[in-house]
Amino acid sequence: MKNKILIEDIRAIAESISSESRKLNGKTVLITGGAGFLGKYFILTLDYLNKNVLEKPCKIISIDNFITGLNYPIGENSNFKTIKHDVSKPIKIDDDIDFIISAAGIASPEFYRKFVIETIDVAVLGTKNMLELAKRKKVESFIFFSSSEVYGDPDPQFIPTPETYFGNVSCIGPRANYDESKRLGETLCISYRQTHKVPVKIVRPFNVYGPGMRLDDYRVIPNFISNVFKGNSIPVYGTGNNTRTFCYATDALTGFFKVLLSDYNGEVFNVGNDNNEISMLALAKTVADIFDNNVKIGYVSGPIDAYAEADPKRRCPDLSKIKTMLGYKPKVDITTGIIRFIRWAIEEFNIKSPLASVIKDKEIETN
Ligand code: UDP
Repeated sequence: MKNKILIEDIRAIAESISSESRKLNGKTVLITGGAGFLGKYFILTLDYLNKNVLEKPCKIISIDNFITGLNYPIGENSNFKTIKHDVSKPIKIDDDIDFIISAAGIASPEFYRKFVIETIDVAVLGTKNMLELAKRKKVESFIFFSSSEVYGDPDPQFIPTPETYFGNVSCIGPRANYDESKRLGETLCISYRQTHKVPVKIVRPFNVYGPGMRLDDYRVIPNFISNVFKGNSIPVYGTGNNTRTFCYATDALTGFFKVLLSDYNGEVFNVGNDNNEISMLALAKTVADIFDNNVKIGYVSGPIDAYAEADPKRRCPDLSKIKTMLGYKPKVDITTGIIRFIRWAIEEFNIKSPLASVIKDKEIETN
């Protein structure tokens, strides 16, 4: 791995979990969705810990079927084994397993509307298969990647949204295959905890972004940036009044590791950044500004039903729980995070657009 931004990111995550990470000493970690955006960060962080922190390295086993994941960030080695498999089908693994990170999923609306049933299968059957494995292997900890989408289109009274909010979700709408399957995934986790004492934890990420996302992921930040580099205007869907909060990968991964390595079994935690609720028009202006306003903003209608008919109006987490219970604190502001994402993409894909040079000299904080 040579990408400068990623190297800095991985070091930052490892430093922010320096006390907790010792729990991984000599253990075996199974991750599903290891070739996806979040999975890659987990693998790179565990690999970094193996090389720089742990006395005895941990063994990493990754499962991915590459339905949306593209590749692994490192090659196989004595501590890193990969299995090509669809987790919605049962799997037998001979190794002992101490930790399970259940991160397989199809999270981008463009992809979950394309792979409608697969999205349900991975969140429900995939999660159940991993819970069965966790039960058999008597793991120390199991983390399930749910989503802030379980809140649906929250009542404004419940924004910022705490974990106790039940959600405002349609069970038949355009986002239902994703939202409802994540909700059932959570129910499965809680049920395995109650019935079989599996030490589950659940995280609900709020719009996590950063290096390693596909440029054709179609979620808003990569889609804005890839359009800029193609010479297009920035596509704001609808009025651009919907808001989101964006959490850079290093902050999110710090939160995920803190939850995984905690003893808070049966608990659910929002993970995100509560400092930057921003409308999509303001986000487009922020991106235009990063490129010294050499790009235009264009209004278009949402290209698929999940945007045109069922786009949640606001999303902002209440992070009181993870802040008080785990000392979590998001650090990376939106402009810094987007510049880091752009710099990563320029290096990773060798982007030659004249706009690439515009951001070369931008000052950013290293995190
Ligand atoms: N969006 C946009 N242009 C894009 C992609 C998304 O204006 O190119 C909007 C979309 O309508 C939504 C917001 O950005 O209001 C976040 O969309 P995304 O798919 O990133 O995440 P989600 O809707 O699942 O939170």
